[in-house]
Amino acid sequence: MPVEADLHLHTTCSDGRLTPTQLIELIASKGIKAAAVSDHDSTEGLAEAYLAAKRFPGLRIIPAIELSTDIPGDEIHILGYFMDYANAEFQANLGRFRDAREGRARAMVDKLRSIGIMIEFERVRHFAGDAAMGRPHVALALLEKGYVKEFPEAFDKYIGRNGPAYVERPKLTPEDSIGFVRQFGGAAVVAHPRDLKELDATLGHLKAAGLSGMEVYYAEYGNDQIAELARLASKHDLIPCGGSDYHHLGKPNEKVPGLMGPPLWVVDALEKAAQATRSERK
Ligand code: AMP
Ligand code: ZN
Ligand code: FE
Ligand code: FE
Repeated sequence: MPVEADLHLHTTCSDGRLTPTQLIELIASKGIKAAAVSDHDSTEGLAEAYLAAKRFPGLRIIPAIELSTDIPGDEIHILGYFMDYANAEFQANLGRFRDAREGRARAMVDKLRSIGIMIEFERVRHFAGDAAMGRPHVALALLEKGYVKEFPEAFDKYIGRNGPAYVERPKLTPEDSIGFVRQFGGAAVVAHPRDLKELDATLGHLKAAGLSGMEVYYAEYGNDQIAELARLASKHDLIPCGGSDYHHLGKPNEKVPGLMGPPLWVVDALEKAAQATRSERK
């Protein structure tokens, strides 16, 4: 069946490598009908995405965000959909999250230099531009200097979670992030849930904290994994979301949009869930 929706996409406004316009052109060429631009800690790509999508009347753009959160021993990414992203307080918070990303990238450069890997923070900033800075931009600076030959090697050797130059950054708890998304009228969804160790129990806790959905149709997952996640989503009454998490990094085997995604009804379900959080707060 052709993929109708892709609810997890990155652009040059965070660590993706396609501009919002390039991304929307790619998405439209795959016949996708609903696409969520879900950059890390930034909604800056949305205006350009909406503009680009005007040329493709069959394509609906959904406002989204991806937030990194922490539980002991694990990192959970929370996606938010349909928030009132123009809200000034919402944007002020995202600005603070992005500042923290920059401080952390500086700390990683310092750590790399302390072990003889001499990259410059200014090169990391160059690769990030105005975007929400992340480890992929540090990886590009490592590539440029020839310290690694391929992009993933930067994570394997230096800046992966257990690497010698990895630096934590202050993160919200998943409950805080769910509350944050809901505070601004959005629906919260757990991203790439197979990263989590105690998934069943965690979903129970997060559902109680106001979670609306979880990724099921995630491009990296196989059919058996998707079937198991669909069972868990149904058990916890969570909307079965998903998408490609496309970054256009050019890494080997990167899953492109159009291969995997949730059914289109999921978009309406998310919109209803978002509306419900708004009416609860009135
Ligand atoms: P950050 O948000 O700065 O912690 O960076 C996380 C991002 O780095 C993820 O969203 C991916 O885009 C990328 N990333 C993390 N681990 C790897 C890896 N092993 N190989 C390639 N990219 C990765
Ligand atoms: Zn990313
Ligand atoms: Fe993620
Ligand atoms: Fe992502």
